[in-house]
Amino acid sequence: MDFDLSDDHRLLRSTVRDFAEQEIAPVAEELDRTKAFPYELVRRLGELNLMGIPFPEEVGGAGADTLAYAIAVEELARIDSSVAITLCAHTSLGTQPIYLFGSPEQRAEWLPKLTAGELLGAFGLTEPEAGSDAGNVQTRATLDGGEWVVDGAKQFITNAGTEISGCVVITAQTGTDERGRKEISNILVPNGTPGYEQGTPYRKMGWNASDTRPLTFTDCRVPEENLVGPRGDGFKQFLRVLDIGRIGVAAMGVGLAQGALDEALKYAKERKAFGQQISKFQAIQAKLADVATEIAAARLLTYHAAFLKDQRRDFSLVAAQAKLKTGRLAVRATEEAVQIHGGYGYIEEYPVCRFYRDAKILTIGEGTDEVQQMVIARALGA
Ligand SMILES: Cc1cc2nc3c(=O)[nH]c(=O)nc-3n(C[C@H](O)[C@H](O)[C@H](O)COP(=O)(O)OP(=O)(O)OC[C@H]3O[C@@H](n4cnc5c(N)ncnc54)[C@H](O)[C@@H]3O)c2cc1C
Repeated sequence: MDFDLSDDHRLLRSTVRDFAEQEIAPVAEELDRTKAFPYELVRRLGELNLMGIPFPEEVGGAGADTLAYAIAVEELARIDSSVAITLCAHTSLGTQPIYLFGSPEQRAEWLPKLTAGELLGAFGLTEPEAGSDAGNVQTRATLDGGEWVVDGAKQFITNAGTEISGCVVITAQTGTDERGRKEISNILVPNGTPGYEQGTPYRKMGWNASDTRPLTFTDCRVPEENLVGPRGDGFKQFLRVLDIGRIGVAAMGVGLAQGALDEALKYAKERKAFGQQISKFQAIQAKLADVATEIAAARLLTYHAAFLKDQRRDFSLVAAQAKLKTGRLAVRATEEAVQIHGGYGYIEEYPVCRFYRDAKILTIGEGTDEVQQMVIARALGA
């Protein structure tokens, strides 16, 4: 086993860390407070070739591996989760299904602009009646004169409603099979298609500078060729997309926990109480030591999931374990960081206040903790 990162991975980490510290950190608090989408930062991410990290160069990507992607996401989330989830949802959820299952024409039309970051991709799976029970899709798509007519609603969708949102790949019921079960397919709907509307952004607990909205489809017509992959493969496809997405979200948990630890350690060395730095108190040291240890374990689990995927081996179990572990860790690490900051931890000027609000979604999005436990238990044979 080799635990050392390659030179390329180390270079990527330092490049993204410098970018995050120099260009994201100074504006993160304001973006969060004003709930402004970070257009300029997304443009810079595109310039730095970070909007399509794990895709081959021939489709405009960086041609890097999943581990590189996880490292980049981790470094972004260490400073700001809104920017990290924008890149993560765009890459793992928005671009991924077109890359994996799209026709040559769909790939040629969309991938260069998506991987360059000129356009953002989104994935519309969740519905009012289909969250954890994602197969319970109510949105329907019916063929009519060479077009899919889509009717239905999606909710909590990331990246679909910005000025640079290009398209959303949605799951839809396209019929029933011979046993009467829902036939689910994925369909690509470009922004601007009549009948496809993006609702008002949600008022969220965190991820305030990221774009999350409900979507509606009313008599929305797209060409028959907008089917993504074979008809009826939608269920299998979205499980695959979510498996991959979990590695990115796990990396967000590691990065957020690391950011919280870094801020907490810095503050503990500055703040004095009872005549000494609070970092000298055993109670504070125990928190820092526990969180640092948990981060080390969670990072290895996350990198292992990325490694397995890069080796083209089965990574579903480890990705679910990494997602479960890191989401919980992010919640705990940010809470401890707020605690170490005392009253200032409750004040928005300190990043840990935002970190604390940004952490909770990591136990919910892309499969709740309970869903990860189901996936893990099933893999154990329980
Ligand atoms: C900010 C944000 C961004 C998001 N971005 C996207 C996106 O880009 N695309 C997208 O498709 N979705 C997105 N989502 C949706 C997200 O993936 C879902 O919210 C999540 O999967 C949970 O679904 P739900 O909200 O319907 O909860 P529910 O499924 O209703 O779950 C409610 C509770 O019941 C539990 N539960 C449900 N079933 C079981 C079971 N069988 N056993 C035990 N417990 C169970 C859950 O774990 C949870 O605790 C986003 C959500 C948010 C908040």
